[in-house]
Amino acid sequence: MGKASDWLREERRKVLGQWVAVCVDCGGGRRWFEEFEDQVDVTCTACGGAMLRRCPHCNEPFSSLFAVDCEECAKPMRAATTKIGIPIRKQGAVTFKPPREDPDA
Ligand SMILES: [Zn+2]
Ligand SMILES: [Zn+2]
Repeated sequence: MGKASDWLREERRKVLGQWVAVCVDCGGGRRWFEEFEDQVDVTCTACGGAMLRRCPHCNEPFSSLFAVDCEECAKPMRAATTKIGIPIRKQGAVTFKPPREDPDA
């Protein structure tokens, strides 16, 4: 995996010195500085939704409010649409049937 973009990230880090967190529910965003990360809201002040601050896969921060896929590992960080578009389904989780019980256990 090429790291040619590292300098770019570093430049951006220096110039902007900041990242963004986005609400997974309403899409609202806020900027945050790495040195003040512990002050970043973990829930959205507008709707109470969870704020996504770092990639859940590789833990890299991101700098675009519209980032859907991680800039670093390219994995999807959140649903491409917020609740304003298509509701994120919280129910409908797959329930697994317990494995057949072994009478010999
Ligand atoms: Zn929100
Ligand atoms: Zn990632």
